[in-house]
Amino acid sequence: MTLAIDVFGLNKSFGDKHVVQDFSIQVERGRICGFLGPNGSGKTTTLRMLCGLLTPDSGRGECLGFDILAKAAEIKARTGYMTQKFSLYEDLTIAENLQFTARVHGLDRRRARVEDALHRLGLAERRGQLASALSGGWKQRLALASATLHEPELLLLDEPTAGVDPQARRSFWDEIHALSARGLTVLVSTHYMDEAERCHEIAYISYGRLIARGTAAEVVARAQIVTLRGEGPGVDRLGAEIDGRPGVDSVAPFGAALHVSGVDRTALNAALEPWKRAPFRWTEMDPTLEDVFIKLMKTSQDNFH
Ligand code: ADP
Repeated sequence: MTLAIDVFGLNKSFGDKHVVQDFSIQVERGRICGFLGPNGSGKTTTLRMLCGLLTPDSGRGECLGFDILAKAAEIKARTGYMTQKFSLYEDLTIAENLQFTARVHGLDRRRARVEDALHRLGLAERRGQLASALSGGWKQRLALASATLHEPELLLLDEPTAGVDPQARRSFWDEIHALSARGLTVLVSTHYMDEAERCHEIAYISYGRLIARGTAAEVVARAQIVTLRGEGPGVDRLGAEIDGRPGVDSVAPFGAALHVSGVDRTALNAALEPWKRAPFRWTEMDPTLEDVFIKLMKTSQDNFH
């Protein structure tokens, strides 16, 4: 097993805000690791520290075999970084954007690299289009082509599919998996559950702390929560009444149904007793990753306050 990321006890504060706390993680090469958690929980700050873009206040470790404190330049040279605000030049064409990136990075074989990226990402036929004229999905492809032009070993994606339609998201993820199959390690922050499920493993961060880690199935199994799904007219409007009752950890409407979760099956069923009658029906179901995240978020909030 070769590790792409191997860091221990990273901390970072901005002023009196302790944004990342004792963060340790190991990620194998060629894996896709998703970073999830509420806004402001420190995902971007963590990603930036892992690849030498930001220096931690304390902690140590290696990224791609290089010390994150002493060898940041080596790591940066081998890392591709794509944020949700794609940094493209709107008044350049697709091909010109890539040629420009190749020059800025001082890459060799520029023409071949640009041609390869254009074909790999299906951009060849649109090479002459101005970036400003592209839809969100095509801009995102161009941004990915640009971020991988120097053939990085590590790719950081910070909410890369925000505002992109589902079909474009799907083909984007197909490409991410193709890159990972060739050995690229990918760290991606996302708010989408379907994307979390497409990662090989996930890391859930809340208030600067890593609170869950593993494959999606492992994270769900370890949470040990019981979820009851309520159906029937108006059940989705019972949330406020049910939430906060003893035994109920979280309540979330899913379409016309209501998911109610807790760790103690007996207490959960007792809490729902008043509504166990027509027109409502309750069935126990396997919790979804989203049920687990809602619970993790609530628990970490409670621990924090
Ligand atoms: P996330 O990616 O999970 O939304 P971030 O890592 O972007 O979280 O931010 C975590 C916290 O750190 C936020 O409260 C944010 O305002 C703060 N923060 C991030 N970068 C800076 C900075 N350069 N200076 C001051 N505060 C910052």
